[in-house]
Amino acid sequence: MRYLILSDIHANYEALEAVLGAAQDRYDELLCCGDLVGYGADPGAIVSWARIHLQSVVRGNHDKACAGLEDLEWFNPSARASAIWTQRVLADSEIEYLARLPKGPASVNGCSIIHGSPVDEDEYLLQARDVAGVAAYLERPVTFFGHTHVQGGFLVHRNGVQVIPPVPMEEASAVLELDPDSHYLINAGSVGQPRDGDPRAAFAIYHRERSYVEYFRVIYDVEAAQEKIREAGLPRSLADRLARGT
Ligand code: ZN
Repeated sequence: MRYLILSDIHANYEALEAVLGAAQDRYDELLCCGDLVGYGADPGAIVSWARIHLQSVVRGNHDKACAGLEDLEWFNPSARASAIWTQRVLADSEIEYLARLPKGPASVNGCSIIHGSPVDEDEYLLQARDVAGVAAYLERPVTFFGHTHVQGGFLVHRNGVQVIPPVPMEEASAVLELDPDSHYLINAGSVGQPRDGDPRAAFAIYHRERSYVEYFRVIYDVEAAQEKIREAGLPRSLADRLARGT
């Protein structure tokens, strides 16, 4: 079984289209670690796509906020403005879909799917020391997470935690062989708003029986996504950052 792993799509339809095009014929099932909406200008298109294609998905903090399940005072001003805009443009049934997205961890074929950390969906796992504190809560050898928008993740071994790097800028993909004696926190990276310095859309494919993960980056029409954000009257910083991948 080959799983296409997506996370942090953030209402960026151009990026999702590029990812699905690049991943075509390479996977059997889809997993998503949350944040379908927020920041980007195409929440309706992404929710429509998700309703048809996503069976295995957990909610992200932006899905929660846009569904009205979270107090927006925790959000920074541009995230708050985009959550309010998203609530306004989505149909009631689309808001309901977001509100019903399951809270992680979810379990799929022996793997876990979470948004933030195994203990808190809003917690950021950015560095090895963040992982050391939650490693005891990893219930399965492979856990997929998102939230940081940084591709790679962590290898957890009895000797410590190692950072898994993203695909190098000059490459389109990178393979990670999985060692049976380790646990893995795999971050496919963000489809719609990468923050690891590489503006290309990120995704990963997990080859379960063959025990490896292949990370990918793909270029997409950043300018079209930026133009829609500006036209929608969303904060311009949300458009600008897409070109930098920060
Ligand atoms: Zn996110």
